Amino acid sequence: MADYTLEIKDLHVSIEDKEILKGVTLTINSGEFHAVMGPNGTGKSTLAAAIMGHPKYEITSGSVTLNGEDLLEMEVDERARAGVFLGMQYPSEISGVTTSDFLRSSINARREEGNEISLMKFIKEMDGALDDLEIDKNMAQRYLNEGFSGGEKKRNEILQLMMLQPGIAILDEIDSGLDIDALKVVADGVNKVREETGLGCLIITHYQRLLNYIKPDHVHIIMQGKIVKSGGAELAQRLEAEGYEWIKEELGIEDETVNA
Ligand code: ADP
Ligand code: MG
Repeated sequence: MADYTLEIKDLHVSIEDKEILKGVTLTINSGEFHAVMGPNGTGKSTLAAAIMGHPKYEITSGSVTLNGEDLLEMEVDERARAGVFLGMQYPSEISGVTTSDFLRSSINARREEGNEISLMKFIKEMDGALDDLEIDKNMAQRYLNEGFSGGEKKRNEILQLMMLQPGIAILDEIDSGLDIDALKVVADGVNKVREETGLGCLIITHYQRLLNYIKPDHVHIIMQGKIVKSGGAELAQRLEAEGYEWIKEELGIEDETVNA
């Protein structure tokens, strides 16, 4: 697989003239798993949405490049075609498009014209991924996320990850609302892609629990819209044992949200 580098430099992001991200710098290379952790309201989802080009999020300064190319200049679908994938905290329901059709057209969008995946190969790969994720085969024929439970939506995000095989994935709270069995299934799916493709990944999570199953190489804590601390997996373990209070004390802050 090709090597990818996603480089975020001093990124400032506003929503409706309110500054949410106040200078985030982070580089993710192929094969590296970076966890971004932090309390609620500190800017984690904003980081994911801004990288993927959600129209509500205005980049006021800083840069995001993929292999040296300006990602922020690309249309949203170009970013996906360039190899960046976003697994969303709250996936949207798309009526009229089945999961299967959505996956097949997303795969083909990343391939040259005339080199589309054959229907046979697609079905074989999709069935394999559905089995891995313990998803009912009928779900692929239902409209994307429509009427899916919270857990089904999360599995469906990882189904897309497994099928699309991006260079860099940003996974926003894929653990929220999952019970422990579902969490293991989802983590196994991510780890399989990690092993097979050399995926680089930004895993956003509120809780340390997910990181017991998906081992990060680097852990970054975000507060007040900035990365305030970085370390290895041991940093996440300390958060599990002690919560976030000690970091707030260390930094001398009372309010960790972006509103501070
Ligand atoms: P996190 O994912 O860390 O919980 P978010 O990035 O979702 O935090 O949100 C950070 C802050 O940005 C929120 O507390 C909220 O005040 C503001 N915010 C986020 N999304 C929106 C939005 N769509 N419209 C207005 N304000 C928003
Ligand atoms: Mg969030």
